[in-house]
Amino acid sequence: MINNTPLNEIKELAEYIALQYTEAVTPINIIAENERLILIYDKYEKGTFDGMTVYSNKKFYVHLNTDCGNFKDKARGRFTLAHELGHYFIDAHRVGLIKGILVPHPSITNKKQFDSIEREADYFASCILMPESRFKNDVLRKKFSFNIIKDLADKYEVSLTACAIRFAQIGNHPILIIYAEDGIIKWKIESDDFPFKWLLNDRKVPENTVIGEYFSKSNVRDIYKTEKVWAMDWFIYVKDYDINRSFYEHCIPHKNKALSIIWED
Ligand SMILES: [Zn+2]
Repeated sequence: MINNTPLNEIKELAEYIALQYTEAVTPINIIAENERLILIYDKYEKGTFDGMTVYSNKKFYVHLNTDCGNFKDKARGRFTLAHELGHYFIDAHRVGLIKGILVPHPSITNKKQFDSIEREADYFASCILMPESRFKNDVLRKKFSFNIIKDLADKYEVSLTACAIRFAQIGNHPILIIYAEDGIIKWKIESDDFPFKWLLNDRKVPENTVIGEYFSKSNVRDIYKTEKVWAMDWFIYVKDYDINRSFYEHCIPHKNKALSIIWED
């Protein structure tokens, strides 16, 4: 059994490590090498795993799957390595790896625990790649637009998704992030102070939204631009006095997948 680690401890640990370095792009490969982790970038086939840390002969081996796009200098590879570093730096995870109780591939029975362990490693990755003090300083007194997410993702060499999630956690403007595949919402994350919580259709993307138009291919609006949408088109429990309340939506489509970021002016 691996005990959960409080998120504030994970954040402090990750940011302490990141802030040893002055550069905005946290040098995670150097951090890994300084810890004598052995990094192996190789083709492990699609649909298998992104990264996997194995303890053997008193050494930690981190396998990074280039068939899933996990290259050293790519946002995806950086996030995956940062996630694996979480398994190494978080005490409970490292001890679990050494004892063989943190297994790389979860069985169904330990899925619930495995998910929380994975979330911890993801949170570690997010904090080490985008430390709060730097990130908050970057957004200070800036008016929110999609370009803020884009510029920060470029600056920290992280994906738009990872950057948007970090912004929802610690940014200076409430946003909602929706991720969908084939028109079905897979997850949503919003800032604590985002004004609406409940989506119109629950799991199916609402039709009269930018992401809805992308999946229905009815493209009334330009899906690659920031577009105006109505509260009523996205949310339920919209009060009468909010009938004219509008939001902005910026959709990032890719094949059968799409991510939308939604915010109010
Ligand atoms: Zn993991």
